Amino acid sequence: MEASRAGQCRVGLCDMLATPTAGKAPTKPSNERPNLNNGYLQANALEDLSSTAVSPLLGQQLQQLPQQLPQLLPAQQQHQQHHQQQQQQQQQQLPPPQQQLKLPTVVFLSPDGSGAVGSALQRNAPATAAGAGPGSGSGSAPAVSAPSVASDWLLLKEAQHRRRLLILAIAFTVLGAAIGALAIYFASVHQRCQLYPRSGPQDAGDGSFNLDGSHNNICMTQECVRTAASLLSAMDLTADPCDDFFQFACGTWNKMHPIPEDRSSISTFEVLSDQQQLVLRGVLEEPVDEHDNAATVKAKAFFKSCMDLPQIRKVGVGRLKRVLRSLGGWPVIERNWQPPANLSVEQVMGQLRFNYSESVMIELYVGADDKNSSVNIIQMDQLQYALPSRDYYLKPNSENDRQAYHKYMTQISLLLGADPATAADELREVIQFETELVNVSLAEADRHDTSAVYKKLTLPELQERVPELNWTEYLQTAVGPGIQLDANEPLVTYGLVYLTEMGRILRETDLRVVHNYMLWRLVMSLMTHMIDEYQRERVEFRKILLGIQSERTRWSQCVEWTNKKLGVAVGALFIRDNFNQDSKEVALEMIHNIRAAFNELLAENHWMDDETRAVAKEKADSMNERIGYPEVLTNVTELEQEYVNLTIVPDNFLDNVFSILQWESEKLLNLLRQPVDKEKWTTEPAVVNAFYNPNKNDIVFPAGILQPLFYSQHFPKSLNYGGIGVVIGHEITHGFDDKGRQFDKEGNMMQWWNNATIEAFRERTQCVIDQYSRYKINEVDMFMDGRMTQGENIADNGGLKQSFRAYKKWERLNGREQQLPALNMTHDQLFFLNYAQIWCGSMRPEDALTKIRSSVHSPGFVRVLGPLSNSRDFANAYNCAVGTTMNPAKKCSVW
Ligand SMILES: [Zn+2]
Repeated sequence: MEASRAGQCRVGLCDMLATPTAGKAPTKPSNERPNLNNGYLQANALEDLSSTAVSPLLGQQLQQLPQQLPQLLPAQQQHQQHHQQQQQQQQQQLPPPQQQLKLPTVVFLSPDGSGAVGSALQRNAPATAAGAGPGSGSGSAPAVSAPSVASDWLLLKEAQHRRRLLILAIAFTVLGAAIGALAIYFASVHQRCQLYPRSGPQDAGDGSFNLDGSHNNICMTQECVRTAASLLSAMDLTADPCDDFFQFACGTWNKMHPIPEDRSSISTFEVLSDQQQLVLRGVLEEPVDEHDNAATVKAKAFFKSCMDLPQIRKVGVGRLKRVLRSLGGWPVIERNWQPPANLSVEQVMGQLRFNYSESVMIELYVGADDKNSSVNIIQMDQLQYALPSRDYYLKPNSENDRQAYHKYMTQISLLLGADPATAADELREVIQFETELVNVSLAEADRHDTSAVYKKLTLPELQERVPELNWTEYLQTAVGPGIQLDANEPLVTYGLVYLTEMGRILRETDLRVVHNYMLWRLVMSLMTHMIDEYQRERVEFRKILLGIQSERTRWSQCVEWTNKKLGVAVGALFIRDNFNQDSKEVALEMIHNIRAAFNELLAENHWMDDETRAVAKEKADSMNERIGYPEVLTNVTELEQEYVNLTIVPDNFLDNVFSILQWESEKLLNLLRQPVDKEKWTTEPAVVNAFYNPNKNDIVFPAGILQPLFYSQHFPKSLNYGGIGVVIGHEITHGFDDKGRQFDKEGNMMQWWNNATIEAFRERTQCVIDQYSRYKINEVDMFMDGRMTQGENIADNGGLKQSFRAYKKWERLNGREQQLPALNMTHDQLFFLNYAQIWCGSMRPEDALTKIRSSVHSPGFVRVLGPLSNSRDFANAYNCAVGTTMNPAKKCSVW
């Protein structure tokens, strides 16, 4: 869950996705504010500031492939290559090729996430073929040099000669694979060296396991070999697992994966998300055919318009300038600007919200009332920051960031026609104004207690509390002409103190500054979508703020926006070929096992009184499970209905962006007079993330997360439980973390705990807060904020414990699994190893700072070290002596 209630989904945060990048980064604050927590993954507090990138490891390598090799390339790569050609042609203003290649399903083979494409490259590169047996793992490092080597080599040959060589290459590859498999086989049979000394042959479990090297106990299928190789290739076997398990599990992975230029961090998650993007690109590029419907056609058309750079250049920014003028003009770019006679500040704010999904100064949305979860109500919160968090405006050590922000603002205004002599000074006042607003906002860590910041009042009551604004005028404009506000319209705010102070600041500020600020926020949001000189300024800004050195590839941005904005339609395309129904069944079974484990732990805990315990069990039992994708995806009529009011044109990307902003906004605000549809589930299926929704008491696992590293039908159960199993437990635990516990089984905020139990809960939570506050982020020499991240940390710890318990139960019922080859590790150990490897990765100092200041999730290495050092199961599995770093005597436990 996220920091503020508001925060359940401070705009953008819940917009997921982050994809953590994967889960990370919506392209702009979404106006939609589903009441989800912000996901299992690092959500992006940063919205357009830090959107997910596609790894150059996957993206750019492919671009180097020689075109002479199409017959050898897996179809996914052919497609990509084809796409390159198409792009070149577009740039040369040639007509696009008539024929398009059919895109195949990408199979995610490699659980370390670096896999499918990387290993495919290896297979096709003669220079590396001999060494690239399965045993060499999926490491992308060898693949990096392969394509260009292959290219130089092959380009010189005659066609016939080339074919012969290629056949030879295939032969070598097959031979290499065979040798590799044999090597692994023998290594497994004759395991002489213990890969890691602390795991004795005895299992921590019931002792029936016989590790005598007999191959009967070792799984030698291709999948097992590949899985073992992948796990192994990430590990640093010289590290002591009881001292630093993150280094032990991820040391080699981290070394082999430097942070790409176009992003601020890299992780196994992000690599997985990159692969997901490749698949989405494939489905979006497929020509429209008889399987398409009005919704999927719109998604494809939007993507195509986003990719059409020559056309975007041709169209220019005329529409943007007209929009600014219609809002009274952006003073800094107007000669002789005067406050518009018939457009009040309230109206501009309202129009920005209604027409452009831009909440300026006040975050405004419609959603289920926390205290009456079946009714939608207007909700207001303090402003969304343009910079990642409050500290960026107020802390002395962020002076550089503020200068970069000011420079960015100035440069963009100059591009749009501002006077170079005055723009910089004028915009400095804008930042001053924004800083005043930020100063009266509450820090996220101080907004944790949802019931403390929730305040319900009527429109006239708000008018009385904050008389500086005409609230009726603002709200009526913001909800649009389709809805008539009641004279006593009920409202909920999570920032009444802020609103009061904002009124005062607004009254004292020059109108020119206020207009400059309001329109800047719209301009800034739109900059995400701009190209050329606008994009270059944004890159400069992000260099300072996030350490990102270059812009992502266009296709990756377009995929991300399309999936963010038309996620349900994209999901419909995605699941056609990329979702295995079996995985839904398996996920369901695991969810049930983990829920059972949660209930057992609930029954065993001794700090809850019996009465509260009974209600807690009722809440746990009534959680709804959402897996894969909503049914609407397979119902053409309903799917088309979702997008019926959205018009997408083929040749004007910026127009399409504006259409989407208006459509999103209207869809959300129109909920106001509708009852909450508790069955409706519109989470984009193609995201690598998972959610808990406190207002509906739902746990949500989109199709995108039901794949390696989290889940594979070929994995041993130990890995699946260490992966998706922990995610499931994490989301269940959110129902009982510091925020979730404030909601009952119907999703209504009310106190159903007695005071003694609340006190006991606080004590246990404080242990977690203190523990996590002691983790230091070396990149910036700062300690974590254990308060801001408490909900996620509680969920991580609970999820791990429940999932391990569920796995042991499964094992008791189904028997011990076969060992993975060459690893010499028990399945208990593998459970924790896979859990840890989900978090392999590193971050730039700028990113570390942003995460410390604004993220409700702990950084990856802390998500490994924290929960594992609290886990007795982990200490047993790895035989860690009490007092070692990973097995401290003092442990924290809530659930
Ligand atoms: Zn979470």
